[in-house]
Amino acid sequence: MPPTSPEPADYRVNPAWHDLSGLVTTAAERPERVIASPIDGAELGRAPICRPQDVELAGRRARAAGRRWAAEPLSRRRGVIERFKDLLAAERDDMLDLIHAENGKSRTDALEEFLDVLLTAGYYAAKAPKVLRRHRRRAALPLLTSTYVHYVAKGVVGVITPWNYPLTLAAADAVPALLAGNGVILKPDSQTPLTALRLVELLRQAGLPEDLMQVVTGPGGQLGRPIIDASDYVMFTGSTATGRTVAAHCGERLIGCGAELGGKNALIVMSDAPLGRAVAGAVQACFANSGQLCISVERIYVARPLFEAFASAFADRAAGLVLGGGGGWEVDMGPLISQGQLDKVVEHVDDAVSKGATVLTGGRRRPDLGELFYEPTVLTGVTDAMTLAREETFGPVVALYPVDSEDQAVALANDSEYGLNASVWTSSPTRGRAVAERLRAGTVNINEGYAAAYGSTDAPMGGFGISGLGRRHGAEGLIKYTEPQTVALQRLALIGPPAWATRPAYAEAMTVGSKWLHVTAGELVRKVAGR
Ligand code: NAP
Repeated sequence: MPPTSPEPADYRVNPAWHDLSGLVTTAAERPERVIASPIDGAELGRAPICRPQDVELAGRRARAAGRRWAAEPLSRRRGVIERFKDLLAAERDDMLDLIHAENGKSRTDALEEFLDVLLTAGYYAAKAPKVLRRHRRRAALPLLTSTYVHYVAKGVVGVITPWNYPLTLAAADAVPALLAGNGVILKPDSQTPLTALRLVELLRQAGLPEDLMQVVTGPGGQLGRPIIDASDYVMFTGSTATGRTVAAHCGERLIGCGAELGGKNALIVMSDAPLGRAVAGAVQACFANSGQLCISVERIYVARPLFEAFASAFADRAAGLVLGGGGGWEVDMGPLISQGQLDKVVEHVDDAVSKGATVLTGGRRRPDLGELFYEPTVLTGVTDAMTLAREETFGPVVALYPVDSEDQAVALANDSEYGLNASVWTSSPTRGRAVAERLRAGTVNINEGYAAAYGSTDAPMGGFGISGLGRRHGAEGLIKYTEPQTVALQRLALIGPPAWATRPAYAEAMTVGSKWLHVTAGELVRKVAGR
């Protein structure tokens, strides 16, 4: 049985969290949902159960405020985000307390998302002028045409987020949407609205106009459609099933959407992998936030010569993780978020065991720590007949498989409809890159589980296959919140046959010109030289 926290449910609750519900947009008084900690069920605050009329009001406010905001110079928008970053940094301890209490994740896991938001806000504040600047593009006719592109805010962006990273997943999309000049309607998951509301409170303290970022709370099944109707672009993070519904509604309206969805992520341990580092990295990749992380690893393929040593060291290290509900740094893993999530984990593991899988460690609930605790669980002998072989568990459960070749590892890793994240462990960067490029996943980490790629905020992040649509992070994560507009000025002559030339002569000249227009100087020299 893994060690437990010395103080199982010792965490700090701030009475001010009760005031956060006042930041939610409501058109009339609404009943409230109690927000309870998954650690012990204690009430942390409340949030209104909004209705579609509240979303309509939020949409009108965000749209009007967005028009004014888009007319502000980018320097003012950046200033707000810079101040927000400073305020957030100063509020670190309270923010970590809130994330821990509301989501249940350990303090270290809460720190991971807190740092991610500082990095993302700083990155986009610094990057926005370069990405959003008006810039020239190669024009239709050299000298006669001059063409530039500039970026017009979409208007209102709907941001719908899940419970597992309640700070990061709200900020990572709302911050670039705001910097691009949009109003935002944020709908956090009903289980974790307080963290998102605290984010909005800090943004307003930093100078964000009050109406610009609206928050509605309540069931996504009822508020999703009105949010899509009130938005010009929707950024959705959550399950693949809900993502399909959201994308279909956006399609009906012909508005764009981004979707960051589920994963069944694979990690490959090559025959030349540094074993100790691979074991430590794999434990982090599988059990961070109790495995409730879209980019966490649920399948590990190990080169057969290393399999026994890896499996035994990995299971030992997983068994040594400290479980508990305490808010101190010594805890590694907290509870699952809800009874539904726990039931799914139990169902997946019981199904696998009943069909012949072997439990190397874990496989048990821990009611001694609280209702929702489950041990980090490592399985071998998992076959396709078992549900967890292909379905996302989204919990602290991983299956280990021996493989006989690099090709087999790649083929098995790619044998999934999902394609979010992957990880490769090897002593050879060249070999690692070669394998990485064969994997069908939006991010691939070499000698890291997930943080190297996700933390590279300048690089796009998202999924292949049913893991998503579009990308967050990087320039892609900012431009998607704009409509690029091309402005072309034509001088002297119109584009078309001139009066002084015959149409056949024009056709001849333009055919040759069009063929050569985009040829580079080097290509031209090679063509002339006949090479
Ligand atoms: P979910 O059920 O899809 O819920 C996510 C959000 O969508 C919640 O705010 C939910 O609201 C809302 N929602 C529910 N039904 C809706 C509808 N018909 N229209 C619009 N919104 C609706 O997701 P989950 O199961 O809680 O979250 C875990 C999943 O998210 C996992 O599959 C995980 O892999 C994925 N995820 C992906 C990423 C990524 O970046 N790729 C990141 C984190 C999580 P209510 O819950 O309040 O009703």
